[in-house]
Amino acid sequence: MPLSINPATNETIASYEEYTPERIRSILDSADAAFLSWRKTSFLERSEKMFKAAQVLRNRKFEFAHLMTTEMGKPITQAEAEVEKCAWLCEYYAENAERFLADETIMTDASRSFVTLQPLGVVLGVMPWNFPFWQVFRFATPALMAGNTCILKHASNVTGCAFAIESVFREAGFPIEVFRTIITPGSQVADLIKLPIIKGVSLTGSTPAGISIASAAGSVLKKSVLELGGSDPYIVLKDADLKASAEACVTARLINGGQSCIAAKRFIIEQPVYRDFVTLFLEIMRSKIMGDPLDRETDLGPQARMDLREELHLQVEKSIEQGASSIMGCVIPEMPGAWYPPSVLINVEPGMVAFDEEMFGPVAAIISAKDENDAMMLANLSDFGLGAALFTADIEKGEYLAKHSLQAGSCFINSFVKSDPRLPFGGIKQSGYGRELSHYGIKEFTNIKTVYCK
Ligand code: NAP
Repeated sequence: MPLSINPATNETIASYEEYTPERIRSILDSADAAFLSWRKTSFLERSEKMFKAAQVLRNRKFEFAHLMTTEMGKPITQAEAEVEKCAWLCEYYAENAERFLADETIMTDASRSFVTLQPLGVVLGVMPWNFPFWQVFRFATPALMAGNTCILKHASNVTGCAFAIESVFREAGFPIEVFRTIITPGSQVADLIKLPIIKGVSLTGSTPAGISIASAAGSVLKKSVLELGGSDPYIVLKDADLKASAEACVTARLINGGQSCIAAKRFIIEQPVYRDFVTLFLEIMRSKIMGDPLDRETDLGPQARMDLREELHLQVEKSIEQGASSIMGCVIPEMPGAWYPPSVLINVEPGMVAFDEEMFGPVAAIISAKDENDAMMLANLSDFGLGAALFTADIEKGEYLAKHSLQAGSCFINSFVKSDPRLPFGGIKQSGYGRELSHYGIKEFTNIKTVYCK
């Protein structure tokens, strides 16, 4: 039975019944039937509804932010910003979907030949708890604007958010069947994917879930988009503005309790500035306030679940056994709830858990690099390839390294990595495949169809 537990207090907020296979089947059937009429609606009609969804999000921002904060512990100011960002995303695709999906004429030996992008049908979204609104809108908004219908299987600890999102689309005037939530555990997803009604699947989640979903989708040759984990390197070169770099690095490590796929995870610092960087980094980390996530002054709330906090601490302990040194935090506080303090490990090297695995929490792994080449080698020495950030005064060099050297889906120079509706988002290697957002994202669940007329 899925439970929503406030991770700040360990109190159970709500419990939900899993849906029976018959109930899920009936929801899928209605989504399939609804697709036949939804795909025929005009872009104007879809846009009007999507603009309304943005308005509903803004009108109910405080309610939704409060729900996110109590279900998974993110600081309330960050939850409010997340709702605003979802509204922006809805408006972005409401404004641009028709242009992104316009037919493209191509000159050939035909009297007319063109490419048209047509929806696929019912798309399943398997979503994580860490950005419980943003990740869902990122999947559903372009899919709906392209004429697909959506089924949401949200993470089991944020079922309240799943129903709240469903209510946004209803209040905005979308037909009920075009976006539906189902309550089912991750272990049932592979079987769902194999049902003929499901035409594609989008997962945002961990690499193990990605492997399971890609295998199920591959076994029936269905389209999948996978947004998985990351261990983003943040490289600070010796010519960088150290204070600005340290500030960006701390923000990128602590945002959302450190539980972001594109959080800064490995800090790779060129040797000549290593000591000064660590001093500045510690100073800024110490100024951050861990506390009640509903308090507007809070920078760091609890971790989202007790089991995830335990897992993080085991990774920290293992890294220390392997030779890393703790210089801040790394101790579980004695209080109820899934708390973990801002923590810093130095002397981290390849082969240690803190280097090789994704650390999904407020633990910084600081690594010393001999020089720029060594820094790039260390950055790429990872199974992941989601985001990367590089700090340097030499923008031309930064662009060159971002373009030619860094193995990642997004490279940011002198800034922390962030998602933006206008820019494609996704990874390479174990961070997944496919892209969300921008014009690339809306094309993922379409049939890129060639029409040739002689
Ligand atoms: P997770 O455990 O993989 O769960 C994500 C979703 O997948 C949940 O709905 C979960 O359902 C389901 N699931 C779990 N195991 C499954 C399986 N074997 N087969 C099918 N579905 C399965 O990940 P999480 O802990 O919620 O989220 C954290 C992870 O997501 C991190 O690795 C993070 O980096 C990644 N992430 C990536 C991005 C990106 O854009 N690349 C963005 C955000 C997060 P249940 O809850 O019912 O288990």
